[in-house]
Amino acid sequence: MRNTLKILFFTFLVVGQTAIAQSREATLVNNIVKEATENSQLEKLAHELMDGIGPRLVGTPQMKQANDWAVAKYQSWGITARNEKWGEWRGWERGTSHIDMVYPRVKSLEGMQLAWSPGMKKAITAELIIVPDLADSIAFKKWLPVVKGKFVMISMHQPTGRPDYNWQEFATKESFDKMKAARTAQTDAWRKRISKTGYTAATLAVALEKAGAVGIVMSNWSNGFGVNKIFNARTKKIPTIDISLEDYGLLYRLTESGTKPKIKVLTEAKEKGVVPTFNTIAEIKGTKKPEEYVMLSAHFDSWDGGTGATDNGTGTLTMMEAMRILKKIYPNPKRTILVGHWGSEEQGLNGSRAFVEDHPEVVKNMQALFNQDNGTGRVVNLSGQGFLHAYDYIGRWLAQVPENICSQIQTTFPGSPGGGGSDYASFVAAGAPAFSLSSLNWSYGTYTWHTNRDTYDKIVFDDVRNNAILTAILAYMASEDPNKTSREKSILPVQRTTGQPATWPEQRKPTRRGGLD
Ligand SMILES: [Zn+2]
Repeated sequence: MRNTLKILFFTFLVVGQTAIAQSREATLVNNIVKEATENSQLEKLAHELMDGIGPRLVGTPQMKQANDWAVAKYQSWGITARNEKWGEWRGWERGTSHIDMVYPRVKSLEGMQLAWSPGMKKAITAELIIVPDLADSIAFKKWLPVVKGKFVMISMHQPTGRPDYNWQEFATKESFDKMKAARTAQTDAWRKRISKTGYTAATLAVALEKAGAVGIVMSNWSNGFGVNKIFNARTKKIPTIDISLEDYGLLYRLTESGTKPKIKVLTEAKEKGVVPTFNTIAEIKGTKKPEEYVMLSAHFDSWDGGTGATDNGTGTLTMMEAMRILKKIYPNPKRTILVGHWGSEEQGLNGSRAFVEDHPEVVKNMQALFNQDNGTGRVVNLSGQGFLHAYDYIGRWLAQVPENICSQIQTTFPGSPGGGGSDYASFVAAGAPAFSLSSLNWSYGTYTWHTNRDTYDKIVFDDVRNNAILTAILAYMASEDPNKTSREKSILPVQRTTGQPATWPEQRKPTRRGGLD
C-alpha cells in the first residue's frame, strides 16, 4: 500500500512537471505571438531604416549610420549591443544623378550612377555611340579612338519592355515564340559582339575610359516592368550610369537611326578614403549556460539602387523584432542569445566570415543559428543543412510553433550544407549548426533583389511579422533545449560528375580590405 502510494505520487510528480513545462512553453509562445501582433515595431523600424537612413552599401556613411542606429535601438530595449570592426573598405558616398536627353528634344531620363562611380565636378553634354559589331579585337583597337568625347552604350537594346509573364497572358503563341527566338538570337549576337572586342563585360568599360570616353551608359534590365539591377561601376574617372529600359531603348534607336542624340549628365559622389567596417552584435546573456549560444543572423548591408528593403532590410527587421520580443517575454534565457547584423555580405559574406574567424568560442559552442535573407516572404523552407540529427532538434522546436506558421514550412532533413548564398554558410562551413529560414519569393529575383525598386513599399509586413514570431520561438526553444545540439554530419549525396560523395564546404577567408587597389 505504501509502495503503491509512493509510485502513484512519483508518477503524479513527473507527469505534473512535464505538464507544467508544457504549459510554461505554451504560455511563453502565446506571449511572443501577442507581443508581435499587438505591439509590433516593424513598420516604425522599417521607416527609420529604409526611408530615414536609406541603402547600406559597404563603406558608405549610411552603413555606419545604420550600425549606430541599431546599437541605439537595442540599448533602448535594454539589450547590450556593440559595433565590432572586422575590416576596411573604400569610403564612398552617393550624390545626385542628373541625366537628361537634350537633343533632338529635351527629356529627363530615368537612371542613376552605379555604386562607386567616380563623382563629376561639372555636367558633361555629349553624343552617344554604341559598341559596334566588329570582326575582332584588332579591328576594335583600331576603332577605339572614336569614343573620345562620347558616352558609350554597352548594353543590348531589349526587343521588348514587357516581361514574359505579360506576353504569356496576352500574346498569341506564335508571336510569343517568335519574340523569344529573335531575342535569343539577338542576345547571343550581342554576347559575341562584346567578346570580339577582346574584353569582357567587366573590363570593357575600363578600356573605353582609357580611350577617352566621357561616360559609360548601360541598362541592366531585370526582366520586369520598370526594374533594373544596380551594381558597381568599374571606371576610375568617368561616370558609369544605368538607364531604364525605356530610356535606354530611346537613346539606342535614335543613335542607330543617325539622329545623334545628346545627353547631359551630372553625377556627384564623394570619396571618403579608407573607412572601417563593422558588424553590429547584440546579446541577451544566458543565465544557466551563458557560454553556449543561440544566434539570430541577417546581413545588414545592401546594394544601393533602392533602399535594400527586401535585401536585406526584412531579414534585419525580423531579427531585431525577434530580439526585442525575446528581451521582453524571455529576459533570462538559459543560453546566451546573440544577433549578428553582418557587414558586406554582398561582396562575399565578409562580415560573417570575419566573425567566424574572430570568435571561435562562439562557433564552437553554437547551439543553433537562424539566418534570413531572401526577401519579405513568410518562411516556407527549412533545411537541416546536412546535419544528421537536425531532424530531432529542429522537429522538437518547430512543434511549439503555432500551426498557421508551421504548416507553411516544408522541411528537408538532413538536407545538404549550403556553400554560399548568405551568411549561414559561413557558420555551416565551420561545422556549426546554422540554418536558413527561407522565404516565399514574392517575385524577389525579378523585382526587388539588387534592383532600383527594392523599397519600403515592397515589404509585406504580415509575412515579416510571421517570421519574427517564428524566429523568436525557435530561439527560445533552442535556448531551453535540455540537450546540446549534435553537429554530426550526414554522408552527402554522390555527385553525378565525380561519382564521389560531395564534400563539406570549406571555411573561406573574408576580404578584410575591399574596394581599394
Ligand atoms: Zn541578401
